Parts: sequence; structure tokens; C-alpha cells
Amino acid sequence: MTRFIFITGGVVSSLGKGLASAALASVLQTRGFKVRLRKLDPYLNVDPGTMSPYQHGEVYVTDDGAETDLDLGHYERFTGVASRRSDNITTGRIYSNVIAKERRGDYLGATVQVIPHVTDAIKEFIKSDITDEDFVLCEIGGTVGDIESLPFLEAIRQLGNELGRERTMFVHLTLLPYIPSAGELKTKPTQHSVKELLSVGIQPDMLMCRSDREIPQGERRKIALFCNVREEAVIPALDVDTIYEVPISYHDQGLDEQVCKHFGLAEAPPPDLDRWRRIVERIRFPEGEVRIAVVGKYTSLLDSYKSLAEALHHGGIANNVRVRLDWIDSQIFESEDAVHHLEDVHGILVPGGFGERGASGKIEAVRFAREHKVPYFGICFGMQMAVIEAARNQAGLPNATSSEFGPCEEPVVGLMTEWTRGNQTVRRGNGDDLGGTMRLGAYECHLRDGSKVAEIYGHKVISERHRHRYEVNIDYMERLEATGLVFSGMSPDGVLPEIVERPDHPWFVGVQFHPELKSKPFDPHPLFTSFIKAAIAQSRLV
Ligand code: GLN
Repeated sequence: MTRFIFITGGVVSSLGKGLASAALASVLQTRGFKVRLRKLDPYLNVDPGTMSPYQHGEVYVTDDGAETDLDLGHYERFTGVASRRSDNITTGRIYSNVIAKERRGDYLGATVQVIPHVTDAIKEFIKSDITDEDFVLCEIGGTVGDIESLPFLEAIRQLGNELGRERTMFVHLTLLPYIPSAGELKTKPTQHSVKELLSVGIQPDMLMCRSDREIPQGERRKIALFCNVREEAVIPALDVDTIYEVPISYHDQGLDEQVCKHFGLAEAPPPDLDRWRRIVERIRFPEGEVRIAVVGKYTSLLDSYKSLAEALHHGGIANNVRVRLDWIDSQIFESEDAVHHLEDVHGILVPGGFGERGASGKIEAVRFAREHKVPYFGICFGMQMAVIEAARNQAGLPNATSSEFGPCEEPVVGLMTEWTRGNQTVRRGNGDDLGGTMRLGAYECHLRDGSKVAEIYGHKVISERHRHRYEVNIDYMERLEATGLVFSGMSPDGVLPEIVERPDHPWFVGVQFHPELKSKPFDPHPLFTSFIKAAIAQSRLV
């Protein structure tokens, strides 16, 4: 029997609802339950794929090629359960499905309304694609009280009624602000937020209260009384040093115990949190430190590189070192010499990106890494820039560029209009819609025997997630290989370059895919582990 836990947020946004949901799921998992996490987003975009990284942060891509909210990254990193297309939905998608149905005449003449048609579509989504999961945790995006989230709240209210208390639980995450002049944590915003929830017919079963300090028993009692929640179900969600400590901290505060109690699962085995304890131990007591420069464009909003930053830290956990990240806006290299900024770093990473702005600065960063033999990791756009750098500075093609930047003479990186997925041919045109039309999701890649990547992965065939429109142009392969750049990973049909590397360099790898999306703290991605290992070797040189 699948049980549903609905997680809402109140008082303010950015309370870390995604992380809280992920951590709760991971603790339930360590008690032996099978979990799945979902996110319901109230905005009107059909998916976040067309949103600016400055607005929305990273777009997380699933194996089955969905462009989703970055919280799905937290879900995967905490539980190891691969997210699917069916784990994220937006108001935009719900409405576009409902309207398409209306146009087909599927509503048989009915007046199509938010209740019941939109709410039915939301409920259908929540209950879809479930097999033998013990718990499905559904996080509702936004803050209670927003106009946009009302249909979602109404849908989960109805589900609570239909499935009953034995199968549903409402968890509300709030904030207890500390007012220094009063020397007190304030409970009023939480009371108001719960009132707001009650006004749409939802009585929370549990409150998780974010706070920067211990919550005195008196305050817990007060919250319980005013919000009509059992005192033990008012769970302090205290700030911790590292996000990977959250499952342990929540467990210590009684979170999973209360969930089990709610569902009558008091006999459930106790959680085994050793995995998390080991990770936290390594983060707390590293044996050294390396500095990695991330040369990108969206460095002012670090959420744009959420999975990347985590994957680099996982590489640090694997090697027992702290990874310090220097976020550098690539545009500065267009007016200044890269040397000043990159001189004492132990590794340089150019991440995924879009558009011409800042591209020449990234190419300068690649040149610096190549010439100074500093470990270099290029991801997606970062691989494309490495190829353009080789073409311009080594292969005698000064006009080499990407057709992403406009019509050009030497499209070393070009628009891909046709490719194969399994045994199907996928086609795209120049003027196609921008949403959902990139090469998206998991694709296989064949590694060259004896290459560095074959050694790193320990396999010949790998599968990694993609999100890009342009590809390294195979017509230039020979001229590029003559410069010492080896094409060590190719698509199974041998047409699309997936990985380039330089055997004459301590560590220089560019990948067309996004390995950061699959890295987990307890299962660091081999490329990040290897890159950080190379950075440690470099740190002994500088
Ligand atoms: N802009 C490049 C492309 O579309 C790279 C995309 C990325 O880095 N994710 O191919």
C-alpha cells in the first residue's frame, strides 16, 4: 500500500523544502521503506527548460529526458532513486493537457473548470506511475497563500479525504524567526501560515520549524496548542553545517518516528544512518584542501550550478579533501589576463552554458589550463570550448567557432538536426520551438580502449545525461586529433563525439554530457573523483 506525504511551505520561500523532503525520504529509506519523491510546481511554464538560470537555478535532467526542477537533484542525491518525467509537473503542463483534452472534445460538452477538471488532472498525476512504493513524498512548490498554488492545495486536500488518514499525511515547513531585541523565537508567523492552510481545508499533521537555534520546549508547546498539532509532531529543523547532516539531525529530532507513528508503523525497523554519519565525518575532518576555479556565466546565482557544486564536493568526499570553489565570471578574461585569477588554483572547470557572451573568456581559461598543465574538466559547453580552443590555437583555424553564435565559416561545433536514439531517428529544424527540443536525457557512449576515461569508468560503454543543441562536428575530427586531442568517447553510431581528452596533459577531459547529474555523496561520480585526485596532485606542485 502506497502512502502519500504532502510537504507544503509557509512564512517565506527558500526554507529548503526540497532538501527537507529529500532528507525525510532518505531517513524512511534507511528504515527499509521504498520511497519516491515528486515536485508539483505552481508556475505557468510547461517545464523549467526555457527559464533563465538566473531566475530559476539549474535545470535538472532525468534519464528519460525531462527538464525538471532542481529539487529533483536533491531527491536523487539523497535517495539514489533515479527521478523520472513523472516526478515533476507544473501548472503550465497541467493546463496544457487539460486544454488539449478539451479541444479533442474529451470532456463531452462539460464546462471545463479548475474544480474538478484541473484538480482531477493534478490528482491523476500524483497517483500515476507508482508500483510498489511504500511512500510517495510530494512537495508543493511555492509558499502557502500564493494564488498559484491553490489548485494544488485543493487537489491534495481532496486526496486526503479520498484516501484517508491511514494513507496521507500533511507536513508543513515553516520558519521561526529570532528577534534579537526580544531575545525570542517568534511563533506567530507559523500560526498564521497554518491558519492559511486551514482556510483551504488542510490541517497539518506535522510541522517542521526551521530555526537557527534550539527551540525551547515552551515554544514547541505553544505552536502545538495554537496549530492543533501534537507536541511531538512539532519538529525543530535546525540549521546544520552541511546539508548531508540533515537526515541525521531530523532523525534526532524525531521526524521519522512521528511519520511512522502517524501511519501506524511504530514497529518499523530503526533507521541505519551509518552511511550519512560516514559522509558527515569525512566532510568535517578532511585531510587537505584543493581549490577549483569554476569559470562560467551564471556565477552570481550559485543555484544555477547546484548539481555541479555538489558533485565537486562528492569528489572531495571520495578523496578526503575539502574542495574550495572559486566562482569566476568568464567575462573578466576578455579584458584581463587569466593568469592572475587562475595562477594558484589546482583545477579549472568550465561548466555547461548557453550563448556567445562570456565564451571567449572560457576559451582563454581552456588555453591557460592546457598551456600550464592545470587539470581541466569541460562539461558540455566546456567541452565545446575546449574543442574550439584547440581548433583556433593549435589546428590553424582562427575562425573556428560554434554555429550557436551565428552563421560561420568553420563550424567546429554545429547544430545537430538529426540523431539516433536507440533505433529511432530524432529530427530537429533550425526554427523549432526552444522548449524541450534539445538532445535530452540518457544516451550511451562508447569509450576508446586504453583511454583515460575508459580507465576512470572501468567500463567500455557508459550512459550519461544530455542537455544541448549543438555537437562537436566530426568533419574536423582528424585535424583536431592531429593537435593531440583524442576523441575517446563516441555515440554508438560513431557520429557524435561525446568525450575528448589529452594524453599529453596531466588531466584534461571534456564531456558533452552532464556527469554532475548522477553523482551522489555515497556514490561519487568517477570523473569527479578522478578530477579532484588530479587536483590534489597539482596542489603538491604549486
Ligand atoms: N549551448 C550548448 C548547446 O546547446 C551547450 C549546452 C550546455 O552546456 N548544456 O549545445
